[in-house]
Amino acid sequence: MLAKLVINLPLKSLRAAMQASSSLIEVAGAKALQLKSQLNNTADNVANSAQSAAANVPRLEAKISSDVAAKTAPDLSDTEVKEWQFKHAPINWIPAAVLISTPLAAAIITPWYLMTHKVSAPVWGVFGAFMVWTGLSITTGYHRLMAHRAYKAHPLVRNFFLVGATLAVQGSAFDWCAGHRIHHRYVDDPMEDPYSAKRGFWFSHIGWMLREYPSGKFDYKNIPDLTKDKVLQIQHKYYGLWVLAANIGIVSAVGWLVGDVWGTLVLAGLLRLVLTHHFTFFINSLCHMYGSRPYTDTNTARDNFLLAIFTWGEGYHNYHHFFQYDFRNGVKWWQYDPTKWTILALSKLGLASDLRTVDDLTIKHAEVNMQFKEAQSHIDKLPQNPLDIGQKMHQFKDRIKFEYDAFTETVEEWQALKAKAIEMKKNEFADRLHEVDDVLKHEYARIEKKILAHNDNLRKAFKHIGYRAAQ
Ligand SMILES: [Zn+2]
Ligand SMILES: [Zn+2]
Repeated sequence: MLAKLVINLPLKSLRAAMQASSSLIEVAGAKALQLKSQLNNTADNVANSAQSAAANVPRLEAKISSDVAAKTAPDLSDTEVKEWQFKHAPINWIPAAVLISTPLAAAIITPWYLMTHKVSAPVWGVFGAFMVWTGLSITTGYHRLMAHRAYKAHPLVRNFFLVGATLAVQGSAFDWCAGHRIHHRYVDDPMEDPYSAKRGFWFSHIGWMLREYPSGKFDYKNIPDLTKDKVLQIQHKYYGLWVLAANIGIVSAVGWLVGDVWGTLVLAGLLRLVLTHHFTFFINSLCHMYGSRPYTDTNTARDNFLLAIFTWGEGYHNYHHFFQYDFRNGVKWWQYDPTKWTILALSKLGLASDLRTVDDLTIKHAEVNMQFKEAQSHIDKLPQNPLDIGQKMHQFKDRIKFEYDAFTETVEEWQALKAKAIEMKKNEFADRLHEVDDVLKHEYARIEKKILAHNDNLRKAFKHIGYRAAQ
């Protein structure tokens, strides 16, 4: 009813405009249809915030009237309407209440409780264990297992992570994974990415959950593999109950077992929940702001060791955005990624399988490519006049050009080999495939050696000018 009222308002002004000038009927009609369909599409939003919408419709109305009066083609773009919806998105009451009240409660109750009560070592132990369980359930379960299908897990493991992820209170698996797949698909897009870093720290960290933004509505079409899962269906349907059962039921039960229900509820319940929330949120905010970009500069995602500590290894976010199906985020053996180690340990125990990885050659290629970009940006900053450039930089410039040409040749060779591999495998009989594989393995190893040599040469070139390249 209210939505209808809102839709009717601009139609009234259009009618007046049509009376004033019959030649404008077509333009106004088109405009009305466009606005009507746009408003219809967002009828839910509009109905929920009818008051604020009604207050703002005159602005749109005025714009349409002036467009019509000026005889210009109406230009209320989709983007403009979407931006309007962003500005007037209604409050998302339940998440907003949880996300605002829990940190406040934790900030007041935890210090008070610790000052007035003695907390036993087992309760601290439960707090630690719940931190690990909840944090790893989000990264190992929701993220790498369900959202990216980076490996397969035994149902026991999958359900253990599902309960842990429910303890984290970050939405059902359907919501979490649908949103995350959209984040990867439209990364940084302010209109589509649900937690776009382009909308600033606050929005990407927590703001995106406080209001019903258009980019935060998911239709679950991108998670067909998850929507057919019976257990996930139940978790989604009874999510509120699951959250209460996990955060009050399980936490109190464990508290009873260690002999301190209230202490466990304060530390392993409330404090653990708030810390886990914000550590996870860092991935969407800080991991898109601070750190290096060794693999790609096509998006804002960064690699950051410090953030990897808080985020169970998810801090290597630049790698993750480039190679999202890899079960590792910290791809180097020495990079701190407890989620990767957990998955590896589970696979050793026979509880995880089909661990997906990107091959070393592809990874190295991305890295060397980025190093060339870095070298080029150095060269671009040099003075225009060749006489102003020092001897060392002259040499650097020539060396980079030479190396880049050689690198391009290697990459072409690699592409040709990939095409040849497909052809050979297609034409060969199954029993001879292993021979083909041996030949190809040898060829790939030769190209990998060449790429590593380019990497070394680049490092030397950077060293010569006193600059330390990223890798
Ligand atoms: Zn991201
Ligand atoms: Zn991801």
